[in-house]
Amino acid sequence: MIHFWRQLRWQIIGAQMLVVIVGVVTLNLTANTLLEQTVPPEQFTTVHTAVIQALTVAAIAATIAGLTTSILLVQVILRSLRSIARSSQRIAAGRYDERVHVPASDELRAVAESFNQMAEALEQIEQRRVTMIGNVAHELRTPLAGIEGYLEGLIDGVLPAEADTFLEMKHEVRRLRRLVDDLQTLSRVEAGQISLHFTTFDINEVIRHVVSQLQPQVLDGCLKIICERTDQPILTRADPDRVAQILLNLIGNAVRYTPEGGCITVRSDLVNEWVQVTVEDTGIGIAPEHLPYIFERFYRADPSRSRASGGSGIGLTIARHLAWAMGGDITAYSAGLGKGSRFTLTLPHSTTHP
Ligand code: ADP
Repeated sequence: MIHFWRQLRWQIIGAQMLVVIVGVVTLNLTANTLLEQTVPPEQFTTVHTAVIQALTVAAIAATIAGLTTSILLVQVILRSLRSIARSSQRIAAGRYDERVHVPASDELRAVAESFNQMAEALEQIEQRRVTMIGNVAHELRTPLAGIEGYLEGLIDGVLPAEADTFLEMKHEVRRLRRLVDDLQTLSRVEAGQISLHFTTFDINEVIRHVVSQLQPQVLDGCLKIICERTDQPILTRADPDRVAQILLNLIGNAVRYTPEGGCITVRSDLVNEWVQVTVEDTGIGIAPEHLPYIFERFYRADPSRSRASGGSGIGLTIARHLAWAMGGDITAYSAGLGKGSRFTLTLPHSTTHP
């Protein structure tokens, strides 16, 4: 880049010289023609010499002024570019807090501002990476500590080598496995590497399947689940397995965060050419200060409660990325703590029959 500007400096100087030479030659020729037509022959030499002298002085002055401004201008550009080059080297070496000074000139300001924006984006990515590593380590530590505790208890003879102890250990291992599986899905879905098999299907079929899959937990929690749907099929074009995965997360969360005796309503609608599935519960609700963050990785409104129930805090992140990948979205609403929650999955409507 700098080398390019050094070359450009000589090109600007060359162009300046060329302009001056062409100007002087043109003025000389024009002056000659005009003098021949207007000045008597006996005065021609005197007037011609005076004009040429005046032109020479003007050309020298123009050359000096032009060269000085060009060199100053190129110096300013070079200084800014050197600063950007130095900063990009520092960023490449891991100093993500590096920023360049924003110069006054419009074009250079635009370059410096774009560079600073890029540096800020890189810094945020780095911060997210560090947070993610911290979160993963934290999440792994809990089940690992559990397994270690059981093993120590068995070795010391404090815990009996019975089926119950091994079942508890299996529970922790399953939790670990679910976390690792979720992490793998998250990394693939965030990188856009998840393979989707699009077909046209009735969303009500998937809702029915997911609700029957969750029936044991619904009965366990003494909950009531109501499905409100039209008799007509509601067609969408998406990956049915991934839609089932999203609904399993949304309805599963509703079951998990609704106390005994509560009610969950699953409604399917066609709204403005979009298929909408609303999962509404009468559960613990979400406080307004937590609501904007619940789709973020590892975010839990109530960490102790979610962790105790086996939640990894990345289910909603995966669900929203999957919805985006199928051209849809998920939104969340809650009137506040203790006032229940409502999650809405939106998918493109399809008019073509399967
Ligand atoms: P988790 O596996 O912890 O449930 P999710 O990503 O599915 O992770 O959800 C993130 C957080 O959002 C949960 O920990 C919980 O605090 C909140 N949440 C999700 N669904 C509900 C719901 N239906 N009612 C109340 N809080 C919810």
